[in-house]
Amino acid sequence: MDTKILLEQCQLVNFQKGKHITILGAGIAGLVAAYELERLGHTVEILEGSLRIGGRVWTHRFGNSPDAPYAELGAMRIPSEHEMTLHYVREMGLSDKLCKFMTVFEESNAMMNINGQVLKMKDAPRVLQQTEGGIFSDTRYSEKTRAFAAWLKTIINTIAPGNLRSEFERDLQSHLMDELERLDLNPYFSEDGETIDLNSLLSQNPSFRAKCSQGLDIFLGDIMTETSHDLLQLKGGMDQLIQRLAASIKGEIKCNSEVVALSVQKDHVEITTKENGQLHTRHCDYVLCTIPFSVLRKLELSGFDDDKLDSIHNTVYCPGTKVAFHTRESFWQKDGIKGGASFSGEGVRQTYYPSVKFNPERGSVMLASYTIGDDAQRMGMMSESERFDYVQNTVSKIHPELNTPGMIVDKASIAWGNYKWSAGGCTIHWDDSESNYLKAQRAQNTLFFAGEHCSRFPAWLQGSIESAVEAVYDIVKHQPAVQSTAIPVAVTVSGKNRQLAAVGSAW
Ligand SMILES: Cc1cc2nc3c(=O)[nH]c(=O)nc-3n(C[C@H](O)[C@H](O)[C@H](O)COP(=O)(O)OP(=O)(O)OC[C@H]3O[C@@H](n4cnc5c(N)ncnc54)[C@H](O)[C@@H]3O)c2cc1C
Repeated sequence: MDTKILLEQCQLVNFQKGKHITILGAGIAGLVAAYELERLGHTVEILEGSLRIGGRVWTHRFGNSPDAPYAELGAMRIPSEHEMTLHYVREMGLSDKLCKFMTVFEESNAMMNINGQVLKMKDAPRVLQQTEGGIFSDTRYSEKTRAFAAWLKTIINTIAPGNLRSEFERDLQSHLMDELERLDLNPYFSEDGETIDLNSLLSQNPSFRAKCSQGLDIFLGDIMTETSHDLLQLKGGMDQLIQRLAASIKGEIKCNSEVVALSVQKDHVEITTKENGQLHTRHCDYVLCTIPFSVLRKLELSGFDDDKLDSIHNTVYCPGTKVAFHTRESFWQKDGIKGGASFSGEGVRQTYYPSVKFNPERGSVMLASYTIGDDAQRMGMMSESERFDYVQNTVSKIHPELNTPGMIVDKASIAWGNYKWSAGGCTIHWDDSESNYLKAQRAQNTLFFAGEHCSRFPAWLQGSIESAVEAVYDIVKHQPAVQSTAIPVAVTVSGKNRQLAAVGSAW
């Protein structure tokens, strides 16, 4: 069953049409919900606090021409198994824009800076083994185990935030080496023995992940996705999805309408917005709130139950920071780099190269730094110019060309942790994930919730979309208190079971 079928179910069971829904936030969750609610015969309006739609989908274009090179400051890749995201790509007529996203560890010419030593990425584990010694030269373990562990450490050092790097180190020292030693690692080394296939190891040996600490185990799931060879992107920018969705919605999308207070009443919600400095309060029958909880918790909230307030106040967000350089030319191609990412070391961590072709006359773009967690927070504490200098100084250790006068034409950066409209990069459900997201999505009378923080796939578009479709279903089936008509059949499954039944079979 796909999205259409889930939503057509709402039509088939004759849910009441003609509801008016006020949607808070014009990110992907708000837009998908608006699009589907209108298709089901309802009317919507969207209140967006910032001057821009798209939220954490933000394609920054260096110039106004249609072929200007661009950087993705938010979402940049779509895993090929994220069917819900791909459904809307297709629905918006963007299938022809889908192309491969070359990810970290896919470009063997990419580089790595380990404590000042600049290496090709494929050589890094061997050098790490030689320089670190310790467990990597412990001959109680086979050469294959030590080499594999060194690769694993290289991958985790490149992608994971600081706390999980430490957890991995602890797990490795205490028992993961023994676990690796037990496994037949041969199938997971490339023919030349120079690289490993971590994805296959993790998917074919669930016992390995089970031996990791809980946070690390869940993060390994993200690593599997991030290092998958089946990642896609939208040529021309991810914001095309946002623009097409917005163009398909008839209801008004009101930017510069900052929600400052929400009051839940028995059968309606009162919303107070600040528009051009003026406060306005509206009475709304149905509201779908996609405002991240990191922002929502700072608003004036009344009529919420304690459990919900607990979820709003305690959902944990992980910061994320990106810095992009518009460069005069794609000088990295001279080193044979056609995409993927290098590890620039220090606090800069991942440096991504474009795997789409830009018009060379307009230069190119390097996503010079992509950080999450403590590294992102540190960068967020710098002023923008300090951040640019820091990233340029660090990345130029692997790419001295960056310091050639005139090479950097322009720069762009965002520290999502400081961004007023999300106050964080993404939620972390690296423990107790199920009950967290169920609490986050639970409605308060006619106030419904969606967004990546309300889903089983936090930090992915897929999660935002899934939660939006779920919320649409809940709103459409909702019976106003005054009505006493029969409850439609499709509503009988509730809570988590309903969600899994609906979504698990939907895409
Ligand atoms: C650095 C980074 C990289 C990512 N990479 C990927 C990736 O490669 N692939 C992928 O699938 N996902 C990725 N994601 C995740 C993805 O971007 C998000 O899951 C998704 O965009 C969130 O959408 P949303 O609608 O849930 O929230 P948002 O996009 O945050 O939308 C919420 C909206 O509410 C508005 N708002 C906030 N406060 C108020 C207020 N008071 N009043 C009115 N409006 C308000 C905001 O301006 C925003 O428009 C990434 C995220 C980040 C930060």
